[in-house]
Amino acid sequence: MAYGYGAPKMPVDQQFLWGIFSRVDKDRNGKISADELQTALANGSWNPFNPETVRLMISMFDRDKSGNITFDEFGALWKYVTDWQETFRSFDRDRSGRIDKGELQTALSTFGYRLSDRFYDLLIRKFDRTGQGTVAFDDFIQCCITVEMLTASFRRQDANRTGWVQLTYEQFLTLVFNCKST
Ligand code: CA
Repeated sequence: MAYGYGAPKMPVDQQFLWGIFSRVDKDRNGKISADELQTALANGSWNPFNPETVRLMISMFDRDKSGNITFDEFGALWKYVTDWQETFRSFDRDRSGRIDKGELQTALSTFGYRLSDRFYDLLIRKFDRTGQGTVAFDDFIQCCITVEMLTASFRRQDANRTGWVQLTYEQFLTLVFNCKST
């Protein structure tokens, strides 16, 4: 067996997944930590994968709230990562390995967001961790998830879907701090 710890009898796609899981699980303790996931993910540059994106991913798929990803939880996480890779590639039209403002506009418009040109400048400034005026894979995920979470929070207040809400200062803070990934 090529695997360090026993792979139970599994269908082929599960065995494939187990192969990936055991490579990511560097210390072979049967669960994937945030550090191990960060090491396994690549953002297309030499910069470490955005730790905030890693934390978000762990929290989304760590169903038993152990702080780690077990093999049971890993399938969904891996699908999520590969879906994002495909999404990223499809919107990186010039194959630069980074998403520029125009590409980000196309991506978020396709996801159904209607945002101004000025707001895209803000998004690029906020999520570009390298100061290149474009976003890498990890920061693109972070950007999309953050827009999605904040939009969901806003929508919960905007019952009539008018695009307007009236908030007190504390309601505003509550809305931002209660933001959660789905
Ligand atoms: Ca690009």
